[in-house]
Amino acid sequence: MDGPTSRILAEHTTLRVGGAADSWMIASSEADLCAAVRECDADGVPVLLLGGGSNLLVADDGFRGRVVQVATHGREVVEEGDDSVTLRLAAGEVWDDIVLWAVGHGWTGVEALSGIPGLVGATPLQNVGAYGQDVAQTVVSVRALDRTTGDVVELSETECGFGYRTSRFKTDPDRWVILGATMRLGTSGTGRIGYPELARELGAAVGAPAPVAAIRDAVLKLRGRKGMVLAADDHDTWSAGSFFTNPIVAPETAAELTADCPRYAAAEGVKLSAAWLIGHAGIEPGFGLRSDAPARISSRHTLALTNRGGATAEDLLELARAVRDRVRDTFGITLEPEPRLVNCAL
Ligand code: NAP
Repeated sequence: MDGPTSRILAEHTTLRVGGAADSWMIASSEADLCAAVRECDADGVPVLLLGGGSNLLVADDGFRGRVVQVATHGREVVEEGDDSVTLRLAAGEVWDDIVLWAVGHGWTGVEALSGIPGLVGATPLQNVGAYGQDVAQTVVSVRALDRTTGDVVELSETECGFGYRTSRFKTDPDRWVILGATMRLGTSGTGRIGYPELARELGAAVGAPAPVAAIRDAVLKLRGRKGMVLAADDHDTWSAGSFFTNPIVAPETAAELTADCPRYAAAEGVKLSAAWLIGHAGIEPGFGLRSDAPARISSRHTLALTNRGGATAEDLLELARAVRDRVRDTFGITLEPEPRLVNCAL
């Protein structure tokens, strides 16, 4: 186990804000990761698990506890069937490297999840999904440390409790440390286009087949146009991706909205587009609270709050509160933040 060169969280998060942590460990093996968390738990030291830092908004005065940085590696094919392949992946693998690896082999099931920042271990947490795919469709099991017992367990897909952008790891965040995932992918090289915007990009119909490499390229183009592919010189990408989740509301609430508001049937109710609600509450791309505000809505996606350089966590929180309040005052719907807020709140 090691320490980092800097304990300033702003240097480890994609929003590039966040103060120092009291202490910091880099865990490069699963044993180190488990030992680090067990030790903190035994000593009553708060733990912040840090992966790619792409879904965190950390307070300017940092974190009073120990950052445990997940830096485990490992990817292997554990089973090859007639038309499927089973992969075992360590939590610390970079997610998009795994997608690239899969697409390179013609493996199917994760190609629409191209360009998503962060590490493998973060994907089951919120059942990461985009363009018609989510990881619940391919996860066979998740290996996790149960902090209530100190044991390492293998949870089946059913036991993971996946829902729309959620899982039991998200609903019970202090209990689990995700150590790795086992995923089963197809091997045909051909995916299915599962999303209208993606179909338009590919000039094909929803439901049509397409080579996984073409789907990956199209998704990267779509995400790139929205500023959702990380690039150090592009301030629209100094974000935590979508800052608010797309709300799922009761049918009666959805019925009160104007007819032009997009709405989609979801298992738990009616899913709305947070980006549409923000835009129709009068918040334009590039919006800031002052003309020189360093925290602004992305110029390419109303759902991303961005750091234009020099923003503090408090600047971003102030902007987030203003967006949330404007949407609530206009539509009576309270948007919930998607990133984990550390030592701060809306
Ligand atoms: P978008 O495509 O503008 O869509 C906004 C919302 O409308 C999403 O909730 C999306 O559902 C829904 N939607 C659009 N067309 C739909 C259809 N034909 N049927 C059902 N629902 C439909 O969203 P975006 O912000 O640019 O994001 C692009 C994709 O990345 C979306 O799939 C979004 O969910 C995903 N994303 C995921 C995460 C995450 O996993 N944390 C973060 C950011 C963005 P879906 O959410 O079911 O797609």
